[in-house]
Amino acid sequence: MTSTMMQVPLSTHQLLERAGRYFGENEVVGRLPDRTNYRRSYAEIYRRARQLAQALRVNAGLVPGEAVATLCWNHAWHLECYFGIPAAAGVVHTLNLRLTPEEIAWIMDDADDKVLIIDDILLPIWEQVKPLLKKAPRVIVIPFSGAALPGDAESYEEFIAVDASSYVYPVQDENEAVAMCYTSGTTGRPKGVVYSHRSMVLHATAACIPDLFSLSRRDRILLVTPMFHANAWSVPFSALMVGADLILPGPHLGGADLLSLMEENQITFAVGVPTIWTMLYQTLEETSRQRELNLVKGIRMLVGGAAVAQALIANFAKYDMYIVQGWGMTETSPLGAVPILTPRHAELPLDEQYALRSMQGIAAPFVDMRIADEDGVAQPWDGKAVGELQVRGPWITGGYHNTPTDPGKFTADGWLRTGDLATINAEGYMRLVDRSKDLIKSGGEWISSVHLESLVMAHPAVLEAAVIAIPHPKWDERPLVIAVRRPGMSVTDAELREFLRPKLARFQLPDDFEWVDAIPKAGTGKIIKAKLREHYRDRQSGTTA
Ligand code: ADP
Repeated sequence: MTSTMMQVPLSTHQLLERAGRYFGENEVVGRLPDRTNYRRSYAEIYRRARQLAQALRVNAGLVPGEAVATLCWNHAWHLECYFGIPAAAGVVHTLNLRLTPEEIAWIMDDADDKVLIIDDILLPIWEQVKPLLKKAPRVIVIPFSGAALPGDAESYEEFIAVDASSYVYPVQDENEAVAMCYTSGTTGRPKGVVYSHRSMVLHATAACIPDLFSLSRRDRILLVTPMFHANAWSVPFSALMVGADLILPGPHLGGADLLSLMEENQITFAVGVPTIWTMLYQTLEETSRQRELNLVKGIRMLVGGAAVAQALIANFAKYDMYIVQGWGMTETSPLGAVPILTPRHAELPLDEQYALRSMQGIAAPFVDMRIADEDGVAQPWDGKAVGELQVRGPWITGGYHNTPTDPGKFTADGWLRTGDLATINAEGYMRLVDRSKDLIKSGGEWISSVHLESLVMAHPAVLEAAVIAIPHPKWDERPLVIAVRRPGMSVTDAELREFLRPKLARFQLPDDFEWVDAIPKAGTGKIIKAKLREHYRDRQSGTTA
């Protein structure tokens, strides 16, 4: 039998249209670089996103499927790009502003970005990127700081000053590309993940269900997770779909800024990485000693991107703030798993509930997960057997942009190999126990240990080096460089740091060094990282920043 249902393709335009039609009075409240606040209604976002679409298609001659890059903080203009670029049949390519100019240039060339939309305050980054590019895009500058733009800059406001009242969306298949993000490669170059209209809409819809983010028209959402990180968990799309307000902090991510935004805007749902919430917690402690806080009761705080300590969950509970942990990757759009508690769990002592909530949890609807050993043999769900976490689903990537299928990343039967090592218990709760991918996650941003090792070994006085992750109370993880000096040569920690400084982004620069006589190796000559991790098990990063 054939279904009688209409074949209406899923599209992010439907979310924009819905917001324009029903939620015009909703608003974005944002913070400008000088810390003044601004407001922009969804009616304006709707109008301006369509103007951007018209300008890109007609004035800039964007061809369907071409990429338009953004180098932006979280703000109302960036939200317009999220909807306006797809409305022109373009692909929103969000660039991570914390990467080095070399990385940004490589990524822009790989994506073949035709247009770059950039914050005026980030133009110094562009000046460094531009000479490294094979082909320069058209550059459009957002007057985010309000200061006059440089004479030769093309202003976003002038670019979108077109009439789009009768703009018609291009007809597209739901499997066509809508956005792209790059992952950091363990070895080699970053890889592009390309989302489709279908995957984005399904993901944004599923994220709203009560046991996941539970989003509705009554919500006011503080979005701290950068919009260049896996589409900020697709929260911008969910918000316009349900008519929730968005509060966007711009470049101000410190505890005091976030607390004031939460109080002034009566936030009900907030999204960030553990590092950000750890800082916010300190501010809450200090402020609550001085005055009464004016926060909504039961704020849900989505934390994703790195492990969440049980203590963080307990600490926020003191302020009636409910941490919701999410596991995900750029490759998984990113929502993969959330520890949803059952009514039976709710009767457990609080400590046990916090312990459950610090696990990575059960798969989101439509996502399948399993664990497998090195030979690909499925492991039992007994809470003990460790295996590589593998996932599959309609918003999980099946490959990478410009990259031939990599058997290291996908199994023969088409599941994504996450590089995370996990256990799953009989109830289906997954817990990450380690990472097989050689990456360190510091403050929500990646540092490749392999890359760092090769840079360290380029120093003339270094014979060999290995890099592992060690815990840090604020940044979660920091790199520890373990190195052997060449006989008869000398180099200090500080000298090595200076040598590395021009080659790395600031957050990637190591602070912790260990000089040793030899690095443990297997018979094949391969460094045994597990042995190093075991040896430095109790080592904490000494970073004070
Ligand atoms: P994101 O932008 O969401 O941080 P990435 O692709 O950069 O996505 O990082 C994904 C990786 O981050 C995962 O494979 C895992 O190693 C780590 N990660 C993400 N969420 C969690 C979590 N809740 N607990 C522990 N690790 C996590």
